Amino acid sequence: MKTMEAYGWSVPVEIHDVLIFGSGAAGLCCAKRLADLGVRDILLLTNGIRMGTSRNTGSDKQTYYRLNVSGSTPDSIAEVAQTLFDGGACDGDTALVEAALSARCFYHLVDLGVPFVRNGYGEFVGYKTDHDPKARAASAGPLTVQEMCAALFRQVERAGIPVCEGMTPVKILTEDGRAIGLLCLWQSADRREQEFQLFACRHLVMATGAPASLYEKSVFPESQVGASGICFEAGVMGKNLTEWQYGLASTGYRWNVSGSYQQVLPRYISTAEDGSDVREFLLEGFNDIPAALNATFLKGYQWPFDVTKLDPGGSSWVDLLVYRETVLRGRKVYMDFTQNPFGMKRLDRSLLSPECLHYLESSGALQDTPYERLMALNPDAIQLYRSHGIDLEREWLAVDVCAQHNNGGLSADIWWETEVQNLYAIGELNGSHGIRRPGGSALNAGQVGAFRAAEQIAARLKTKPVPEQGKSGTTSNCAESAPQWDTETAAGAGQLNLASSGACQNFGAEEWKPVTEFRKEQCLPLLERAALWCSHAEGSGNLRKLASYFQRRNSSYAGFVRNRTEIEQTLAEAKELLSHPERIQIAHAVELPQAFQLWDMLVSTAAYLGAMLDYIQDGGLSRGSALIAEPLPEPGDVVPVDTEHQHQIQEVTLKREFTVQAGWRRVRKIPDSPQWFEQVWKDMKQKGECR
Ligand SMILES: Cc1cc2nc3c(=O)[nH]c(=O)nc-3n(C[C@H](O)[C@H](O)[C@H](O)COP(=O)(O)OP(=O)(O)OC[C@H]3O[C@@H](n4cnc5c(N)ncnc54)[C@H](O)[C@@H]3O)c2cc1C
Repeated sequence: MKTMEAYGWSVPVEIHDVLIFGSGAAGLCCAKRLADLGVRDILLLTNGIRMGTSRNTGSDKQTYYRLNVSGSTPDSIAEVAQTLFDGGACDGDTALVEAALSARCFYHLVDLGVPFVRNGYGEFVGYKTDHDPKARAASAGPLTVQEMCAALFRQVERAGIPVCEGMTPVKILTEDGRAIGLLCLWQSADRREQEFQLFACRHLVMATGAPASLYEKSVFPESQVGASGICFEAGVMGKNLTEWQYGLASTGYRWNVSGSYQQVLPRYISTAEDGSDVREFLLEGFNDIPAALNATFLKGYQWPFDVTKLDPGGSSWVDLLVYRETVLRGRKVYMDFTQNPFGMKRLDRSLLSPECLHYLESSGALQDTPYERLMALNPDAIQLYRSHGIDLEREWLAVDVCAQHNNGGLSADIWWETEVQNLYAIGELNGSHGIRRPGGSALNAGQVGAFRAAEQIAARLKTKPVPEQGKSGTTSNCAESAPQWDTETAAGAGQLNLASSGACQNFGAEEWKPVTEFRKEQCLPLLERAALWCSHAEGSGNLRKLASYFQRRNSSYAGFVRNRTEIEQTLAEAKELLSHPERIQIAHAVELPQAFQLWDMLVSTAAYLGAMLDYIQDGGLSRGSALIAEPLPEPGDVVPVDTEHQHQIQEVTLKREFTVQAGWRRVRKIPDSPQWFEQVWKDMKQKGECR
């Protein structure tokens, strides 16, 4: 094995055809698809197979959005594409690909055993999700994406694709605008061993999900960090970075409090930091009790914060009132299921909207207390918290408005390849959506992007699809240390809890294949920085303090409420810290992965907040899930909503000293795709499938 020596580090180097970083639904799918397409030398890297968003999240009824394939509702690829496009700031060609492949990718999961709900006749029935005109939502229950991961992981195992845990991506290596490798820091599960490892590759697929570590208030699992920063540093362009989705979630155990949790009309209360001074606060934002009850009920359906729902009585006032309590007044907010709101001993039906009354009556859920109503409506919702040590019958549920999804992300073409050639961004890392998106379209986009990237890579490597009986085993010498799938989740385990696996040494590399001469000098600054951090390791370090500081500021001022002055300050502070890496202090060398994660978060902060600032400077107003307001609106105020940038896409790149260069362009329209069979056939024979 070759090694690279520098700054006291001995770095083993190996080469693979395809490197995938990230073991969520997108990364696993890409690995499986590549194997199907005949690619043999694949290496899947991750910090832990039980880590990340896909492996640890769920919701009331977790949604997978796809072409409606049941009942009598007429649907078409063109209409799905139009719905995605209508979300705003969305490229039409990408929307068309996501629509075109949605049924195929959905059935792929079905065939792998994901238990999507179907009727006795075999129809995978759908329901309406947000921004969805056609009941295109499918679900396999509250843990749809975990079911997907389990099914995909079985295939990855079956194909013998080596999976290497304990990895932190540190630097993407490039040459002449192409990705040529990835420098990683590996740490053993017990944190006793660590080393840098350098992977050269022909193709690099990044599937690291959203940069969740940007925010303190987050319903992303704690194990989801993100690695967008190293992609920006490699020159990848960001797209629609301003567009996120935020909503109410419990913070003790991270879970969206949508659907039934709101529909049973709990009491919203806040307390002082020490738990004293309990008070209800919703009436500060609504004219009367019926309006407050109605908004709470609607929050069940209208879960994400949405600036178009800030008219008088609008449900997004609930989020804004929570913000006033937590951020402006420094109080804690809870949902209380033990008592009715507004001092009602029993639920007063005369105060309910006709829609709410009808819903609760039809569901047999008009009991005396919110807890009893929840028990009648959705007992699993109670059990879920109980299984995480929270008893809604007795305890209040701590909640806040949390980051849940990044609609924007890295920019890529219709094969999910970024403008850095051979570097693909798939899954939530990819910013294929804009201002709004139908609920569930993230999972579809992840599967479609994974497939597209795999198709193009296989075409470039000129491999042939593997017949069913021929599928098994790429070479791997880490079989005995291969991670096992089990039902235990890493939720709440925390960032330091690295999953168990041995170091990845040289598996998959059958021989030394000199794809390219390595650019050692690209690694040197990183190795030097690591050596610097290790040489200054002492005391308690300041990683957690620094991370918390930026995460708190981002949640308070660059989350669903955006404040220009505060964003400017955070941005300046992040850049200042990035230009003084010596100010980052680790307590011990074992904290190196967290130091690199902090670095990545700071770089992402520079890119994301730079994009937000540019948007505001360009005259951008509130839109989607972000309120741009100084000062905060009062109930009754009209909140102006942006229309100017509806069909514009903001693209940003990071330049010297972490300064953002931003530009705007019109969205690409939905293409008039060729439909004449003979012509398409001829074209395919001449140019192949990837064109
Ligand atoms: C509470 C919640 C509910 C949701 N509900 C829905 C829904 O109903 N429908 C829908 O379509 N979408 C939903 N989403 C979004 C959807 O779950 C995600 O978009 C999707 O799972 C992301 O998959 P991914 O493979 O792109 O990334 P992930 O699943 O996040 O995978 C990222 C991978 O990269 C690894 N990784 C990340 N950063 C690092 C790092 N720095 N170092 C090492 N490894 C790293 C992770 O461990 C993981 O292996 C929901 C999200 C949340 C949080």
